[in-house]
Amino acid sequence: MPGPGPGGGRMGRAFLSEEEKANRPKVTKELLVRIMSYLKPYWKQLIVTLICIAVSSTMSILPSVLTGKIIDEGLIGRNMRLLIIYIILSLAVTLGSNMIGVAESYLNTWIAQHISYDMRNHMYKHLQSMSQRFFTSNNQGDIITRMTSDISGVEQVITSTYTSILSNVITLVVALVAMFQKNWILAAVGIVIVPLFTIPTRAAGKTRWEITNEAQKCNDEINGILNETMSVSGQTLVKLFCREDYEYDKYEDANGRMIKLNIRQSMAGRWFRVVITTITSVGPMLLYLVGGILMMKYDSSLTVGDITVLVALLGRMYGPVNSLLNIQVDWIRSMALFTRIFEYFDMKVEIENPENPVIPKEAHGNVRFENVCFSYEPERQILKNINFELKSGSSVAIVGPSGSGKSTMINLIPRLYDVNEGAVYFDDVDVRQLDLKYLRSNIGIVTQDTYLFNGTIRENLLYVKPDATEAELIEACENANIYDFIQNQPDGLDTMVGNRGLKLSGGEKQRISIARVLLKNPALMIFDEATSALDSISEAKIQAAIDPLVESRTSILIAHRLSTILAADEILVLKDGRIAERGQHKDLVGKGGVYTELYETQFKIKAAEDV
Ligand code: ATP
Repeated sequence: MPGPGPGGGRMGRAFLSEEEKANRPKVTKELLVRIMSYLKPYWKQLIVTLICIAVSSTMSILPSVLTGKIIDEGLIGRNMRLLIIYIILSLAVTLGSNMIGVAESYLNTWIAQHISYDMRNHMYKHLQSMSQRFFTSNNQGDIITRMTSDISGVEQVITSTYTSILSNVITLVVALVAMFQKNWILAAVGIVIVPLFTIPTRAAGKTRWEITNEAQKCNDEINGILNETMSVSGQTLVKLFCREDYEYDKYEDANGRMIKLNIRQSMAGRWFRVVITTITSVGPMLLYLVGGILMMKYDSSLTVGDITVLVALLGRMYGPVNSLLNIQVDWIRSMALFTRIFEYFDMKVEIENPENPVIPKEAHGNVRFENVCFSYEPERQILKNINFELKSGSSVAIVGPSGSGKSTMINLIPRLYDVNEGAVYFDDVDVRQLDLKYLRSNIGIVTQDTYLFNGTIRENLLYVKPDATEAELIEACENANIYDFIQNQPDGLDTMVGNRGLKLSGGEKQRISIARVLLKNPALMIFDEATSALDSISEAKIQAAIDPLVESRTSILIAHRLSTILAADEILVLKDGRIAERGQHKDLVGKGGVYTELYETQFKIKAAEDV
């Protein structure tokens, strides 16, 4: 939902944008029932809130009515006792109404916060169960917006919209009844005046809203520029391509437009106030005039106090009428918010734990692919009829040109995606029948794109095993060949890794991620070897960490280096999603096929470089 934007208050929310008009949500019974289901657990608090609103709105009208009595019976009637009684009564009613108002705000906020707490938790849990496909195909910004501003919007709907409808309707009805009771002619004049106030308010509001909308777009543009250019990668790109001036000009231009809009917006507000104050003062004057004529010429029972009460009540009507005119907009907007949130809730969970999950006693790490076919999108098959078996204690290297489906193959083992045809077995059980937690906790993956959380090395390691002892941490780091580096840091294991681990080199990050996986001690180890050119010392250190692993563990390696390939028991050569060749290096190298080509163009060169 486009927010009110900088400086946009209630007026900014009073109109629908073209986009909002075009995407009006369909309000069905199901939608309303679903919304009510979130309110249901709090129905008791809700009823108390409604009672508070009804009482405080009714009470808030009383001081206006008492003003008439103060004037007629106290001042004009020269009765000190009544004057004091009415003044005290009026103050007591105001105080009482405000006190109830405080209780109402508290309850209201409490309900709204609890509903949004329920929704946020529900959404987070739901998103966690979404598959990899969901995260790769949805914009991260959109996911965050739904989690944050959409749910906050709903909160606001609950705290303001429904309470304002109720309190405004009650205030209006009570004010109208009181006015008609005093004098129907003046009450009728009052009703005619109210639209005179609301029409210009809406016209001024619309202009202001348009400017706010433009300011919002400009603000988004500025945020976009800042997001892109003020990030580490963005700044690197700007610096390396010498685009500082270009980016500065873009920023300066947007910034300039923003200040012009801010000035216009502020002035529109100023003119708006002039219009409103003029019109609000016309209303009472008209009532005084008509009331004066009535009192002096026709209706001798009408008192000064009555006219004052009617003027005061008229003043109390402007606000509620104006808010109620905006209700439709608030309603459409809130329905749109709920629809957007429910849209996410309704997304099917693609990878689910089976109904009766199998949890074997011990994991060995055997993997078997049987006639596996897979595609991310229906029209393009990525893996075609893959068959292979990896026995516990042995290792397999997957090689192949870029895009041939190597990473896709390993993604199927921990069920980041499910096969379209065939089956993947882990220890002879179809992975779709295994308990997901069991399966994933027995597989350790070191990816090319190492992800470390912003925190210390220790925190990153403990993420996989919160109860690991110091000795275990050190052992894992030693085996991953990173302990020397850690020891040389002033803070040792408590060294901060920076945002996404950017304070570390690619090689260091990768070795920490190896240590992290070693700490997990999985039955099956999958290693996606970095293709990026690390310096040969770094590479040698990583290699020294991996080689013993390959020897001692059941492992699958997506390999780009000859030494890794040589260490594996079998090589699978993938091309266009099929296993084109398989065997050992000595058998494949002279065959003149895909492997020979890869060897000549990649592995041999890399091996020569490393020597
Ligand atoms: P590399 O060696 O470059 O990492 P790879 O052999 O590991 O390549 P994959 O990452 O498995 O290749 O990709 C195989 C094909 O699937 C590629 O053509 C890629 O464009 C496509 N692909 C990968 N991930 C997705 C995705 N999430 N959605 C759609 N297509 C994808």
